[in-house]
Amino acid sequence: MSALLELENVSRTYGGGLFSRRQVMAVNDVSLRLEEGRPEIFTVVGESGSGKTTLARMILNMVPPSAGTIRFQGTDLATVRAAAERLAFMRKVQPIFQNPFEAFNPMKRVDRYLFATARRMADVQGDAAITEAADAALKSVGLSLAEVRGRFPHQLSGGQLQRVAIARALISRPALLVADEPVSMIDASLRASIVNLLRELRDRNGLTIIYITHDLATAYYVSDRIIIMRRGSVVESGDARTVLDNPQHPYSQLLKSSVLSPEVPTGVSHA
Ligand code: ADP
Ligand code: MG
Repeated sequence: MSALLELENVSRTYGGGLFSRRQVMAVNDVSLRLEEGRPEIFTVVGESGSGKTTLARMILNMVPPSAGTIRFQGTDLATVRAAAERLAFMRKVQPIFQNPFEAFNPMKRVDRYLFATARRMADVQGDAAITEAADAALKSVGLSLAEVRGRFPHQLSGGQLQRVAIARALISRPALLVADEPVSMIDASLRASIVNLLRELRDRNGLTIIYITHDLATAYYVSDRIIIMRRGSVVESGDARTVLDNPQHPYSQLLKSSVLSPEVPTGVSHA
């Protein structure tokens, strides 16, 4: 099998220059490999500050690694520089962010945004074809163009807008979605349906999805494989059920026990 995505000893440091105080190792020597033609949900779990977003940004080619190599379909991302190459890469690897309200221009109707994406990211031409592309993308996330037509972002719920964001990401027919905490800003009651949508996209559209979360419950439910990060390093990895049913690393055990106990009294008053 050939690799869809391959990270070899990837690290990223921040600071430590002439004018900054301390160097932070945001991501430390991470290697992983996702196969072409094997759709899966590959989950990255870790507490806040463990390096998840930095890892996502490097995979999205928004931030270069300080060391190591990232290849997508065999191409080293460090060589993806020219505008045309960057566009081709963006079509194949699409982000989903935590806050859908930040992902959209508040002054722009969401249907217009989808139409613009169809033109720019999928080369769709002509009003009828553009409308059709937007509607098809919306239908694959359980919405329709009729439901969002003429709406501004704030006229939709967070859950609806995150679905529109996912629809937008699908228009260019990507091979990989990188979803950085896509449900943590969404109402708890709607999270399951969005997480279920990720599973549907894996099964129906054959998408590989990197699902980033600090939430072990959704991770357990949705993941095929998982890595657990702590302070930039991968402390445990493997088949998701195997890892989460029987964590080996003390940190993974701690993470699991802290999730499963309902309220740990800390003695700290929040009054
Ligand atoms: P997570 O997404 O798991 O919360 P991040 O990747 O955002 O983790 O952050 C990992 C570490 O890198 C943190 O210590 C954070 O403060 C630091 N960091 C992230 N981005 C930057 C940046 N642009 N400049 C300086 N430090 C950063
Ligand atoms: Mg983050």
